[in-house]
Amino acid sequence: MTETATLSRSSAALQDSIPVAPAEAPKLTVYTERQLDKIPQIQALPAHEREAIRVVANVLPFRVNQYVCEELIDWSNWKNDPIFRLTFPQKEMLMPETFEQIADILKTGDKVALKDAVNQVRETLNPHPAGQMDLNVPKIDGVPVQGIQHKYRETVLFFPSQGQTCHTYCTFCFRWAQFIGDKDLKFANSEASAMVEYLKANPQVTDILITGGDPLVMKTKNLRVYLEALLDPELEHVQTIRIGSKSLTFWPQRFVTDPDADELLMVFEKLIASGKHLAFMAHYNHWREMEPEIARTAIRRIRATGAQIRSQGPLLKNINDSAEVWAQMWKTQVKLGVIPYYMFVERDTGARHYFEVPLAQAWTIYRDALQQVSGLARTVRGPSMSSEPGKVEIQGVTEVAGEKVFVLRFLQGRDSDWVQKPFFAKYDENATWLHHLKPAFGDSKFFFEK
Ligand SMILES: *Cc1c(COP(=O)(O)O)cnc(C)c1O
Ligand code: SF4
Repeated sequence: MTETATLSRSSAALQDSIPVAPAEAPKLTVYTERQLDKIPQIQALPAHEREAIRVVANVLPFRVNQYVCEELIDWSNWKNDPIFRLTFPQKEMLMPETFEQIADILKTGDKVALKDAVNQVRETLNPHPAGQMDLNVPKIDGVPVQGIQHKYRETVLFFPSQGQTCHTYCTFCFRWAQFIGDKDLKFANSEASAMVEYLKANPQVTDILITGGDPLVMKTKNLRVYLEALLDPELEHVQTIRIGSKSLTFWPQRFVTDPDADELLMVFEKLIASGKHLAFMAHYNHWREMEPEIARTAIRRIRATGAQIRSQGPLLKNINDSAEVWAQMWKTQVKLGVIPYYMFVERDTGARHYFEVPLAQAWTIYRDALQQVSGLARTVRGPSMSSEPGKVEIQGVTEVAGEKVFVLRFLQGRDSDWVQKPFFAKYDENATWLHHLKPAFGDSKFFFEK
């Protein structure tokens, strides 16, 4: 009796586990470019299709696991399948001449020439959009604190070094430069103590966002070092711990059947019991990601710890560029207790010609989707560009004094005084990013450029 009572008090999440004997718990099987031919579903494709995937997988990061292949992709319609496009390189993601160039070199088997060509192509794909690498890295006594980015006053980003990879890679990912094994490109910090020192020195910080890659590729025994470090009594001011992750999509077993799943949920409970808010920032692009039962069980178990799950993700041509997909995604999320938070505009990096959606169209999709859902799903903000000066939301398209304009506002700004100030840009139906826009009404500069 007392035992059960204690258990139900301390571990509500664990009560809800589906009964899986450890021996039956699936083990993660990962496939990269080298194991492409080992994927059973790929073996079934025509040779020229397999070859096309292999060519592009030499340029863009590729990694997928058996769960994504077996449970998320509908192979009967693979070419148009949004999860296939999200995870498998496609011929159209490279420019035709680039594709031919890489394909030709692959045929020769010349590894040195391949490496040179691949590096050249990657350089053209803008691997570090919006000054990701150099800006916003803070210093203590003049020495950069590696693994930390601090752009907005109240929120610090932390990149634990063991979390700089993902269970599966997204084909559009702007962090792709971090994954291709070049050490110089990695944000890394194995030191939880450096993070704690920095936070102690910055009492204005209320939120820490642990991100990657995907921090949930880490074993619980590693991740808990970072999380428990935040329980330091001198970090009272850090009220919210966010964890950014796509593991609810790519490996929900992490929270259900993995050997250290229960231990992870107990760490979550411990953070919440200490009085912190734990916000799980789930990256979602499509309602299909929430269809498998295990994905829903994972959501239930995380929520049962007292953590909140908020969702965010970019709008992508060929994957989710329709109001219906977003409306259904947000409705599903509200039903499952996930709070829609951000719709992002895809950054100008990687295979952007394949994914980019003009800002005007992004706003139309957002508005049309929002009109189809109840107020509980209208917590989502966007479409938002994470640009150099801050997060800029497209509020709408309208006419002011006879001029067609975009109405914009900062959701987050390098200067917090910019937040919520509306401003205007000349309407441009082809613009896909802030730097394409010109101020309206004949101004030469936007207010934040002055
Ligand atoms: C989005 C973002 C944050 C968090 O901003 P919120 O508006 O608090 O969600 C923090 N840092 C960077 C660099 C970001 O892009
Ligand atoms: S899960 Fe996130 S970090 Fe990982 S590849 Fe996808 S978008 Fe990039």
